[in-house]
Amino acid sequence: MSMMGKAQLANLAVFGGERLFEDDLPVAQVYLPRREEFDGWFGAIFDRAYYTNHGPLVSTLERAVRDRLGVRHAIAVTNGTVALMVALTALDISGEVVVPSFTFPATVQALKWSGLGHVFADVDADTHMLTPDLVEAVRTPETTGVLGVHVWGRPCAPESMEDYCRRHRIALLFDACHAFGCGPVHRLIGNYGSAEIFSFHATKIVNAAEGGCIVTNDDDLAARIRTVRSFHRTPADRDVRRRLNAKMSEAQAAMALMSLGSLEHNIAANGAVLEVYRSGLRDIPGLNLVEPVTGLATNHQYCVVEVSETSALDRDGFLLAIRPEGVLARRYFAPGVHRLAPYSGSTQAPLPNTERLCRTLLQLPLGAQVSPDQARWIVDLLAFVAANAGNVARRLEQLAPEMPGASR
Ligand SMILES: *Cc1c(COP(=O)(O)O)cnc(C)c1O
Repeated sequence: MSMMGKAQLANLAVFGGERLFEDDLPVAQVYLPRREEFDGWFGAIFDRAYYTNHGPLVSTLERAVRDRLGVRHAIAVTNGTVALMVALTALDISGEVVVPSFTFPATVQALKWSGLGHVFADVDADTHMLTPDLVEAVRTPETTGVLGVHVWGRPCAPESMEDYCRRHRIALLFDACHAFGCGPVHRLIGNYGSAEIFSFHATKIVNAAEGGCIVTNDDDLAARIRTVRSFHRTPADRDVRRRLNAKMSEAQAAMALMSLGSLEHNIAANGAVLEVYRSGLRDIPGLNLVEPVTGLATNHQYCVVEVSETSALDRDGFLLAIRPEGVLARRYFAPGVHRLAPYSGSTQAPLPNTERLCRTLLQLPLGAQVSPDQARWIVDLLAFVAANAGNVARRLEQLAPEMPGASR
């Protein structure tokens, strides 16, 4: 790390100055267990010579997830996208499902793979999520379900959404990939709707090096989900429309168990970094931290900042200014899924809140690779850029022809 703070514009790496960080700082969790711990777990798999097909580590993981979230069933699968596909298939619905465009593309892609249509709804300006009113605004006679997303670990109005879906007799599923361990402590996320799904991708707070999980309190749905998950016939099979191989391997389960063992530590470590961002950003006009909901458990998986639309330097300008320093801040989510192929071709009612969030939000580095000291340097960098926002914007414009893309 350069010990030189930024005193003038020429000190910014984007304008030829020295980089603030030698190594890039990612926005993702990227937790790695200690090497000895890894060797122990993988050595045991080798000794047992039991690599997959509902092995002992997968069973241990499913039990650990049940206990941690207080749910009746946890069904481990290959990844979060497949978890969505398996859960949607087990629900046995047809027609179309209301989904936010302000989500990760996999949420919508899973609908298509499950033979379902989608209807994009806008999200609430403050919570960044669906509400029953926003669902009602786009629901059609073909609508058979809602796929809500608990964005940034905040709950997607789960109780009013349950009431709404019960009243209209439509299914309710949640993409909870951001929200492992989040929500009201007496009823954590994982306990709402028909089922909820988690991703254990390396970027998430629990890392199985690819992996995912479906949780539900519905015994019959759980049996159907287990049937869809495997091509092997068993006496417990239910009648389902289609099946696939979505089994989690023992290697993935070992990674997930190591990661779960460090979950509380990782949440606390992220919380300490977030605290540095929080206190630093308070003094930077134009940059507002998106806060977790007070009183609810949270996993600090993301640091989300909204760049004010009145700022002389917009969100993309901030990204251009700070990424060359090794601060790999990102747009997330952007663009909205409705602006991505193959969805962008269809006519779509306007989604004003989605458009604004896609234009103004950025993620700051957080996770196992980022220390509070590094966050302090990032805050100083942001303060310098914000204080010189107009001049930075003008210099960036002069550079424009050679500018590399802000997203990577
Ligand atoms: C990560 C993520 C997914 C996809 O999970 P994978 O395990 O990568 O397939 C889906 N939805 C959301 C909201 C996510 O953040």
